[in-house]
Amino acid sequence: MSSMFGKARTCNECNIAILGITGSGKSALTVKFLTKRFISEYDPNLEDTYTSEEIVDQQSVVVKVMDTADQDGPVNCERYLTWAHVFMVVYSIDNRSSFEGCQQYLDVVTLHTKGLQLEVPIILLGNKLDMERYSRSQVSKADGASLASRHGAVFHEVSACQDFDAVQRVFHEAVRAARRE
Ligand code: GDP
Ligand code: MG
Repeated sequence: MSSMFGKARTCNECNIAILGITGSGKSALTVKFLTKRFISEYDPNLEDTYTSEEIVDQQSVVVKVMDTADQDGPVNCERYLTWAHVFMVVYSIDNRSSFEGCQQYLDVVTLHTKGLQLEVPIILLGNKLDMERYSRSQVSKADGASLASRHGAVFHEVSACQDFDAVQRVFHEAVRAARRE
């Protein structure tokens, strides 16, 4: 019976944890989703959880977004590992070290979910797609896609400073993925 209630609750609440190294654009993506605006300078040390009521596929859902701000890679991960219904792991396509760095997060998440035999969806996001024509050589789309498939993650490239719809779409996809679990 309790599991039935648990299921009902997770149907209209969705906790999304945004992970990735400093500078990859986690806060910019979060703010874009919540306000439709691109804020270019955001305190890199600020970690917060925001709430937004969304309609996804005609169903209302309370979406909570934890915009994490680890200083040196994954530390004290319990706060999001035990909380999240879905993980969004972000790197920047114009920065190879952000791509290397995000792999630590994928490892931490995969290890955690395997250990508990949970199916917690992961969405890998290559951010700063607007930088494509200047520095695409850093991380190719194929690199991102292959990393995602190794972790059973969905993969998209986005830009926090371009259209809102594409950013909203990946957050709504995260809600859908969490609903299926
Ligand atoms: P966080 O440390 O992961 O939260 O990264 P921020 O959201 O603070 O972004 C780091 C830097 O990248 C800031 O200077 C942002 O303005 C910039 N930035 C974030 N997203 C984008 C993007 O999609 N395109 C471009 N060109 N810059 C971005
Ligand atoms: Mg931030």
